[in-house]
Amino acid sequence: MGKHVIVLGAGIVGVCCALELLRRGLSVTLVDRREPGMETSMGNAGVLARSSLMPFNHPGLWGQLPRLLKNDTVQFRYRWPYLARNLGWATRFLLNARPSVFRETVAALDGLIRLSAPEHLKLLDASGARRRLRDTGWIFLYRTESAWQAGALARRTFARFEVPTRELSPAELAEAEPALAPIFHRALWIQGSYSVDDPHEVVAAYADLFRREGGQFKRMAAGGIRRDGQGWTVEGAQGSGSLTAERLVVALGPWSKDLLKTAGIDLPMAFERGYHMHYSGLDGASVTRPVYDTGGGYVLSPMARGLRLSTGVELDACDAPARTGQLDLAERHAREAFPLGQRLDAAAWLGRRPTLPDSRPMIGEAPRHPGLWLALGHQHIGFSTAPGTAKILAELMLDGGAASRHHAFRPGRFI
Ligand SMILES: Cc1cc2nc3c(=O)[nH]c(=O)nc-3n(C[C@H](O)[C@H](O)[C@H](O)COP(=O)(O)OP(=O)(O)OC[C@H]3O[C@@H](n4cnc5c(N)ncnc54)[C@H](O)[C@@H]3O)c2cc1C
Repeated sequence: MGKHVIVLGAGIVGVCCALELLRRGLSVTLVDRREPGMETSMGNAGVLARSSLMPFNHPGLWGQLPRLLKNDTVQFRYRWPYLARNLGWATRFLLNARPSVFRETVAALDGLIRLSAPEHLKLLDASGARRRLRDTGWIFLYRTESAWQAGALARRTFARFEVPTRELSPAELAEAEPALAPIFHRALWIQGSYSVDDPHEVVAAYADLFRREGGQFKRMAAGGIRRDGQGWTVEGAQGSGSLTAERLVVALGPWSKDLLKTAGIDLPMAFERGYHMHYSGLDGASVTRPVYDTGGGYVLSPMARGLRLSTGVELDACDAPARTGQLDLAERHAREAFPLGQRLDAAAWLGRRPTLPDSRPMIGEAPRHPGLWLALGHQHIGFSTAPGTAKILAELMLDGGAASRHHAFRPGRFI
């Protein structure tokens, strides 16, 4: 194999993969239709947490279904025609909530998160973005005793995987986050975890580091990929040129599904869309770290731009129009808990969490497609897990023999 590799997609996953492969001696061209980090990796809640090992499809999901299917919560919405077209995906997603698969998934995600955190710290230092990081963890808020009881599986899982946590009484919560209204019955502080106050700046800093270390970045919208004698060719959309290399990494996040169709691969990927909006705090009120109101269904994260309120899941087509109802309801719930001021953005931001039926990313070479590598499907935790993904991808690509260690992420489980 030659030394040239194209990495398609300059979100957090593609940028981390490109940098890692460059540092492992390859000549890397990173390609995106926009500047790095302008899509999903920009608008997330900025949480880098050990607790993110809990997938959305855990064994407690079945019990929550009657409530979630009413289609009126901040936690979960869906558009009927999309769900009807994707019943196969939804069935597999639900079946993968069974305890045996759940146990495998949390173990795999825990390993990936543990691998990623120290790498993020190194990259933040090397890229000059360390000032974006807080090491104060995040806080889960429970409005009632029954909500607290419903979180028992998560707490048991955290304990099993030694995720450091501390229960907070209402008085302790008031001391930690005085701006919150006294409506919470209990709280759980996830410790030993991080958050950032500007995810886009972090991706941009990592991408600059990639360029400073000799990587090439090219703006190009990919319209398709094909394999030929020399390797993999990326065709620009509307005849905007092409690029060829022996190896190609597809890290297009939610847009990976469409592009891979051009190589004959039909990924079972769905889009857990989510919205955010920034707010001021009345009289300068703020929180000092992200808080997750489990009853309200939103996360409130202090960001450089203001207080970022982000919603749960909306299942719909990747590029279907945005709808406002879920964010409006999240705002109503958040105003019960916090003195939110005015909206700071003209329109809500819409992002798409790319999710495979077992809530694990796909990391490795596509079966029967030599030279085509995949780093995609990072659902709710791609910001946290991109550096670990890059390490695994590089190990599989360059060291060989490691595949059995990363079995949980093998592309062959769905291709
Ligand atoms: C509301 C919300 C909150 C979240 N909160 C968190 C959180 O707190 N912590 C966490 O870890 N994760 C969080 N996530 C998930 C996380 O943001 C994603 O998993 C992660 O950003 C995915 O990164 P990516 O690089 O795979 O995709 P993206 O960031 O979407 O990157 C894909 C790139 O591909 C490019 N592209 C697409 N099509 C083409 C094409 N045809 N040609 C060229 N380029 C193309 C795009 O321009 C983009 O730059 C959240 C997500 C949402 C929606």
